[in-house]
Amino acid sequence: MKNLYCKLYGEDMTKNFNIDENYISGLLERGKNIGGDHIGRILYRAEALAGLSHADVAALLSTRDEGHWQKIFEIAGDIKQRVYGDRVVMFAPLYISDYCVNDCIYCGFCAENPRERKRLSIVELRGEIRALEMMGHKRLALEAGEDPINCSLDYVLECIREIYGMKFESGEIRRVNVNIGASSEEDYRRLHAAGIGTYILFQETYHRASYRQVHRSGPKADYDYHLTAFDRAMRAGIDDVGGGVLFGLYDHAFEVMGLMMHNEHLDRQYGAGFHTISVPRLRSASGSVDTMYPHAVDDETFARIVAVLRLAVPYTGLILSTRESPEMRRRLIRLGVSQVSAGSETSVGGYNATAKDAEQFNTVDRRGIGEVAKWLMDEGFVPSFCTACYRQGRTGDRFHELVKEGRIRDVCLPNAMFTLKEYALDYGDASFMAKADKLISRKLEGIDDTTLRATIRENLRRLESGDRDVFL
Ligand code: SAM
Ligand code: SF4
Repeated sequence: MKNLYCKLYGEDMTKNFNIDENYISGLLERGKNIGGDHIGRILYRAEALAGLSHADVAALLSTRDEGHWQKIFEIAGDIKQRVYGDRVVMFAPLYISDYCVNDCIYCGFCAENPRERKRLSIVELRGEIRALEMMGHKRLALEAGEDPINCSLDYVLECIREIYGMKFESGEIRRVNVNIGASSEEDYRRLHAAGIGTYILFQETYHRASYRQVHRSGPKADYDYHLTAFDRAMRAGIDDVGGGVLFGLYDHAFEVMGLMMHNEHLDRQYGAGFHTISVPRLRSASGSVDTMYPHAVDDETFARIVAVLRLAVPYTGLILSTRESPEMRRRLIRLGVSQVSAGSETSVGGYNATAKDAEQFNTVDRRGIGEVAKWLMDEGFVPSFCTACYRQGRTGDRFHELVKEGRIRDVCLPNAMFTLKEYALDYGDASFMAKADKLISRKLEGIDDTTLRATIRENLRRLESGDRDVFL
């Protein structure tokens, strides 16, 4: 099976990402003996927003000193504040098909699970989009099982076209991120041409033997083909990719190292690393094989993972889903998470369904989008529905330049305020509006640049008089 798909498509493997497991294990082992002075120097670099190398990350992950962890948490919170301010971007997943030919033992959609399968008809898709739009969502992550016959790329592209084509009184879905299985360079070219936002793919685990154990059959069982998917995506012109691992399948430190080295490879090879990193934690799923996962990640370790990622890649968005509880989400947003899903359904047709029996996995945070937005405001955050960067062509290395110049806050905070105002006008009640206005005024006071402040005020007035989709 090794490299079967790469060989099939005649891919050049020499430039592709690869994992050297012994090298990673060696670094993690050596990390245990790294002294306090060395850790101090790493933390100093992190504080300066310089990002960290994978070797630095190995040292941090291996430290057992509670004092160091305290400091790591403090710096993570500080970086989150300096780079992202109080914004938290909101999105929702949209499941279009649960047909799947793969046998990933952790997933409710796995091929071996004897259940009825469903793929949205275009009429049903429209119903789902209407429901999501009525909730106030502007940004989606399109999700599908892998099945070349029942969920072909043509079908996926048709869905994307349909979503972008739908307009409602209160707006439209403005960004469609796509999370579908590893594909060929040609298919990525077609996805790119469809105007997708981020192409998201989780490696699940970077550890080859564990990968083999949990992916028993189907195209996804080919570790190398999966591992090199972003190389093909980048070569096809998709410069906006989002990585992730399914925490719980293998040792978390090894997985974080895999993510870091993958990110470095993409940056070196194509000029842009991950746009986002997702941190899904394994959840129970009906119909998946009920295995005890020896690498289950506890809450404290999970918080450490998020904090280390925030130090290592300060400008990469960190995504947290409704797999986590409100309490965990509160903690992790402060430590570095910049995007959260809300009001999510993980079944096909879930936004219009009454029964909730066909989910991919069990979600924990079941609150609606309005409730999550209110909660975020109460916590002092600005819920953002912004999709401007992608539509302004600020992706890949252009986006990274913007953030590295420190301009992300000047552009993104105002855009977050505009989209919150728009949400309040179109979907909020009087109490929501009052809360949003109060928060926006408070954030405005914190902006020193008088010209920028005047522009923001003007744009907020435009929204009040009926303009929509206002952004910098
Ligand atoms: N089918 C594609 C794939 O596997 O790459 C698209 C994404 S699948 C619909 C979305 C993600 O859900 C998977 O990548 C996996 O990490 C995650 N997932 C599957 N089962 C899960 C579970 N039991 N708990 C948490 N996340 C799970
Ligand atoms: Fe299919 Fe993706 Fe689930 Fe694997 S994780 S069974 S590929 S939907």
